[in-house]
Amino acid sequence: MIVSLKPGAPQAAARRVSDKLRAHGFEPREILGVERIVLAAVGRGERKEALLASLQCDPEVETAVALTSPYKLVHRSANPAGTTVEASGVRFGPGEFTVIAGPCSVESRAQILETARAVKAAGARMLRGGAYKPRTSPYDFQGLEGRGLALLTEARAETGLPFVTEVLTAEDVDAVAEASDMLQVGARNMQNFALLKRLGGCGKPVLLKRGLSATIQELLLAAEYVVAHGNPGVVLCERGIRTFETHTRNTLDLGAVAALRELTHLPIVVDPSHATGRRSLVPPLAKAAAAVGADGLIIEVHPRPEEAWSDGPQSVTPASLAALLRDLAPYAQLEGRRFSQPEPARRATGTEGW
Ligand code: PEP
Ligand code: MN
Repeated sequence: MIVSLKPGAPQAAARRVSDKLRAHGFEPREILGVERIVLAAVGRGERKEALLASLQCDPEVETAVALTSPYKLVHRSANPAGTTVEASGVRFGPGEFTVIAGPCSVESRAQILETARAVKAAGARMLRGGAYKPRTSPYDFQGLEGRGLALLTEARAETGLPFVTEVLTAEDVDAVAEASDMLQVGARNMQNFALLKRLGGCGKPVLLKRGLSATIQELLLAAEYVVAHGNPGVVLCERGIRTFETHTRNTLDLGAVAALRELTHLPIVVDPSHATGRRSLVPPLAKAAAAVGADGLIIEVHPRPEEAWSDGPQSVTPASLAALLRDLAPYAQLEGRRFSQPEPARRATGTEGW
């Protein structure tokens, strides 16, 4: 059940309505909107019809609706204006277009520092880099783990760019949350419910990637786990799904981005790198993502993609990232998003070397 109080209704009204919801077996969660307080009531509840009728007559209640949707807290009606998620000063949400960029994996001190400086100069607001890597083959590079976190921390200290990095297990959550500005749940872990519950209490925002074969509803229920366990800071990520097509690594589901915009108030970013597996396809799909209303992008960048320890074929060079973001700016601005690059990146020319 979603109960929106009238604009300007005081906290006392929220407390009174919350008590009424509790008396009917619901657990109310307060969502502080820009203009009004919204209460999302979760749980089984009792005598719902009578409760709904009484709330609808309440002089301080604007609307009270029963939600048939299985996800409640992340449902659009819980915050119709859209939620802004902040990660160490970097904002994801309405009016913003936020770019995260960096290597698939942290490989060395020199590599992460060089990449961090370059993606910052190109206009990225946040650094990415995997320290704990979920690899399909057990013989592939598994990540630098704790040392990777230390190198990302050093790159942040030098460039001022906050970073997002993947957490693979519930046991690693505390260490990764302590070091990072945002924790990534990878596609392969989207339905690791023990991990999602643990992230509810981690105190940092979460970047939740859609599973390889997950429906939109399964993605939203995964987000609901994190929010229901106490963490409202979730950014969704469409990173392509597995289809019959083999030319691209995955199939980017841009329809899901438009659908998610209707279904949830959470921000949504697009990962054109994992979606395609091919660097030549990253720029066109990045522009398409901006045009379809995404709140930002996460892009893999490597100074020498041919030498990358993971995902080289889909990684773009820093120069290509700068050119891509320059070309992308008008798309984001057309959609009413704030997006700009530092001056030297804006002046750079040429898109050679994708
Ligand atoms: C990654 O971001 O490097 C990654 C492994 O992504 P995904 O979980 O989407 O495959
Ligand atoms: Mn990768």
